[in-house]
Amino acid sequence: MGVGLGTRWRAWRRARRARRTFGAPRGFRAERFGGIVQTETPRALVFVDRAYARRLGHDGGALWDGPEPAATDDGGNIISAHHLSAPLEAHLQLTNRCDAGCTGCYTGATPQGGPAEWGRDEWLRAVDALADRGVLHLALGGGESAVLPWLGDIVRHARARGLVPNLTTSGLTHVDELCELAPLFGQINVSLDGVGEIYARVRGFDGFARVDAAVQRLRASTPHVGVNTVVTRVNYDHLEDVFRYCRTRGLSEIELLRFKPSGRGAGVFAELTCSDAQHRGILPLALRLARRYRRRVRMDCSYTPMVAHHRPGARLMQWLAIYGCAGGDLLIGAKAHGKVSACSFAAPPAAGPDVVGLGDYWDRPEAFGAFRSWREAAEPCSSCEVHDLCRGGCRVVSAHVSGSLAAPDPECPRVIDWRAAHPASAPAPGEISTRRRLPVLAH
Ligand code: SF4
Ligand code: SF4
Repeated sequence: MGVGLGTRWRAWRRARRARRTFGAPRGFRAERFGGIVQTETPRALVFVDRAYARRLGHDGGALWDGPEPAATDDGGNIISAHHLSAPLEAHLQLTNRCDAGCTGCYTGATPQGGPAEWGRDEWLRAVDALADRGVLHLALGGGESAVLPWLGDIVRHARARGLVPNLTTSGLTHVDELCELAPLFGQINVSLDGVGEIYARVRGFDGFARVDAAVQRLRASTPHVGVNTVVTRVNYDHLEDVFRYCRTRGLSEIELLRFKPSGRGAGVFAELTCSDAQHRGILPLALRLARRYRRRVRMDCSYTPMVAHHRPGARLMQWLAIYGCAGGDLLIGAKAHGKVSACSFAAPPAAGPDVVGLGDYWDRPEAFGAFRSWREAAEPCSSCEVHDLCRGGCRVVSAHVSGSLAAPDPECPRVIDWRAAHPASAPAPGEISTRRRLPVLAH
């Protein structure tokens, strides 16, 4: 059956109206619920239902054969109805080589790197495999991937395949090479856990002046430079210095990361993780500093319980796209030897694939274990109104503290309050001090 000219004209006008709403889309990926539109201005991933995707001129093919998952009025959300057709973002640990020796390094990086690390050709194949799956963003890190002579080949190949490569770097080495590549990255974030003496107290060595010099050179090469700040009980009271520094240097973004007990971080977790009071205060503090210094602030996925503590409500969290533990779904990690993990902090699943073989593994029922089975949660997560957004908090912290990836996040304020009100079902009050050290990160 042919389609009339009038029908096609109306469809074209609808598509044009939709494009004006979002700017010119760079790409589209079909999902069961509709699809994901990647826009350049603003730089965003926009989740749209099937009707809207059709208005943009897309067809979901076999993915749209079944009934469309619907958002419900009680806060249920379409993204959690089923895992995505592929991750949105892959965090690639291109190497675990790094000379810095930071006290809490979450990958346990060393100058020698890890065993059986992949080289240029394997990572190029990985980029192809991820592009073929429809992955949209790459987060490149290490170790320190700036030391790799073939980093530029990976970045250029990612761009050629339509992926947006972002980079996290210590800023301590190979700054000339990074400045040359800088315009190719969507965003470069330099690890900066404090200004001046606080940097040294958190990282264990005095590197602030070198990092500051690198930040200035990178900023001269691209406007898309920010910082990653791992929040610990040492630097919590000094976060304002980081915001002030970012304004002084014209940096666009501050990403706050919760301290994770992985790599060398597992050994110092007890002394560096924030106190309960600090966790409860991080959201108002971050918002106040973002307003005062007019910087964009992001909080990593593991902070979702600390956001939920302030009861913004599921609808607002969903609207703001605040998702918790989306490892093995919205994002994946890949270790320096290529093995896939649910996120960059988690160990690869037993018998999991390397990143090139992700496609065969992704839809298996057992894929990513507890990361995918988050719906089978214990209290208080099972009755928490934001559970399908938060997904029980950070699995890596749960595994380290409670010995189980599936346990509720022991640092979530609601979990702490619930356990205080239900002492019979709560682990011992000293749970955190009796934590077990588990091999969260393997090479
Ligand atoms: S375990 Fe989950 S919440 Fe924690 S860092 Fe990984 S993806 Fe984020
Ligand atoms: S109770 Fe569980 S689901 Fe609710 S915010 Fe805390 S960790 Fe997340």
